[in-house]
Amino acid sequence: MSARDAERWVVRPGEKFSFADRDPRATDGAPGGKKPTSAKLPKLAGKLAGLQDRLYAESSQALLVVLQAMDAGGKDGTVKHVFGGVNPQGVSVTSFKVPTPEELAHDFLWRIHANVPGHGYIGIFNRSHYEDVLVARVHELVPEKVWRRRYVHINHFEALLHDAGVRVVKLCLHISREEQAARLQARLDDPTKRWKFNPGDLAERERWDDYLAAYEEAIRETSTEHAPWYVVPADRKWFRNWAVSRIVLETLADMDPQYPPAAEGLDGITVT
Ligand code: AMP
Ligand code: MG
Repeated sequence: MSARDAERWVVRPGEKFSFADRDPRATDGAPGGKKPTSAKLPKLAGKLAGLQDRLYAESSQALLVVLQAMDAGGKDGTVKHVFGGVNPQGVSVTSFKVPTPEELAHDFLWRIHANVPGHGYIGIFNRSHYEDVLVARVHELVPEKVWRRRYVHINHFEALLHDAGVRVVKLCLHISREEQAARLQARLDDPTKRWKFNPGDLAERERWDDYLAAYEEAIRETSTEHAPWYVVPADRKWFRNWAVSRIVLETLADMDPQYPPAAEGLDGITVT
């Protein structure tokens, strides 16, 4: 079996993961520069659509892709460019925002669990339960002993999903502070992007190091055999799209969904 591309970006359970050891501008492993790599994407999208068709037909397992990143890290672009070619009937995308009063009146996994894909589906989380150990930690929304316990809850929750036939893949899109500045500036300068600019993002940017520390610990504490974290170099959008496509494809190939057997006695039937 050829080496899996995904191995390049995985965080192994127990690894002393640090962003400092990973270059957000890296393009290692790509089939070439921007042009040749981007040219591979349609074929990868076709393969993804084919595997998703099998997953849907088989209807006995599901894939959950968790997307996390700093503001302007490329979560929306990844959804659009990697999953844009998949049958919409087989995918669900859930964007998690500041919890509503009703959500806050429940445990932090309540709204998450309700949006986990059922068998046959690919579910994409644009932000996730990880916000409850990231923004909740950085902004001290809950005491430390509360968010710290959440690592345990998250690991148990993801083990439960695994046992229920849900494959969990967690992707941290890793951008540099400089790249974030360029993307936020682009949102300000381009009238068609301005709606995406949230003045609050500048205050979050001031806490860059706090977020990095929160991400590092969360990733170390929750990268497991059954629900691994991948840290994807994401300063270059073309590379990010390719790398995420590879990870998702390799995961689906490993799940190996099969078309179910047809009903008995169909051979020779002619529909008149
Ligand atoms: P966006 O993804 O740009 O639409 O922004 C969503 C906002 O919701 C971000 O500022 C997140 O930090 C915030 N958010 C998401 N989940 C939570 C959570 N569990 N607690 C607090 N804020 C959250
Ligand atoms: Mg935003």
